[in-house]
Amino acid sequence: MKRAVLEALKKNKDIFISGEELSKKIGVTRTAVWKHIKQLKEEGYEIESVSRKGYRMIKEPDTLDANALEIEVASKHIGRKIHHFESIDSTNTLAKKMAAEGAPEGTVIIAEEQTGGRGRLGRTWESPKGTGIWMSIILRPNIVPTEATKITQITAAAVAMGLRSIIGDDVGIKWPNDIIIHKKKTCGILTEMSAELNSVNYIVVGIGINVNVDPNEFPEEVRGVATSIKAYTGMIVSRKNIVKEILHAFEDLYLDFIEKNHIEKSMEICKKYSVTLGKQVKIRTRQKEVIAEAVDLTEDGQLLIKNELGEIEKVLSGEVSVRGLTDYV
Ligand code: ADP
Repeated sequence: MKRAVLEALKKNKDIFISGEELSKKIGVTRTAVWKHIKQLKEEGYEIESVSRKGYRMIKEPDTLDANALEIEVASKHIGRKIHHFESIDSTNTLAKKMAAEGAPEGTVIIAEEQTGGRGRLGRTWESPKGTGIWMSIILRPNIVPTEATKITQITAAAVAMGLRSIIGDDVGIKWPNDIIIHKKKTCGILTEMSAELNSVNYIVVGIGINVNVDPNEFPEEVRGVATSIKAYTGMIVSRKNIVKEILHAFEDLYLDFIEKNHIEKSMEICKKYSVTLGKQVKIRTRQKEVIAEAVDLTEDGQLLIKNELGEIEKVLSGEVSVRGLTDYV
């Protein structure tokens, strides 16, 4: 019921809606409406109430509360069900557990804080409270396991498009899984899957975005490579709005792939906004580091490099980290 009140207020932003209208619409008494409004106010919503006019939403808090986010995202597929947590060890870990227990495609897990956020290859992902977007999406694509890298590229394209629509042109993609602002990392993507030899059971794609994070609060080794949207824009930015833009962009690109086997648009975005292609980069594996020119992406989202002999080689994303020669990018 509280959700219905919230939905009505959100849909009628800036105009008054009377207690009577609300009570009729939702099918509860005016006292119940009043109680829900009181609760919403306690949660940080600024709602004006004027006698004979009714209620009007003035300002919403930037919590990622599931009700508010589901209303905001209003999606049929990706994000139709959102689970929100104050604190969690890792959204990917919980998403995998829920996927294994049958949670449907499009389910989103989002947390204010991760206490055990993960990067690739056992690395840590810093996820301070209330200032970032730490979320995971459960997917059940009918693909073979080797195609999972495409999901990372679709996600990178979606995050880049979502962020560009809000903060503009300085957003780039560092192959294969980082989103960059001004040569520093503002978002990381972690794709994990459960699969048989020839089929995928589920994929979980984790997206961690430093939104209003103060990068000075990161540990030393992260501080050097990380930035946040606030550090870039100088303003607090609405996390809710960013989630909405990214999930919409993701849904478009993902359904294009699943329903039409069409990955070209995502790859075009990954190439167009790449901060890796056309550069000399260091390719690090566990065993060695080589310097090569990053020349192109394959249609599967793998990197093509030109080695020192001038030969073109394919680099598989699962095994490597890419760094610039002097900077992170
Ligand atoms: P890579 O940068 O090689 O692709 P990952 O994608 O696995 O590595 O990301 C993990 C790394 O990202 C960590 O080792 C750390 O250096 C850095 N990192 C951790 N937390 C954050 C954060 N919130 N923002 C930016 N970078 C981070």
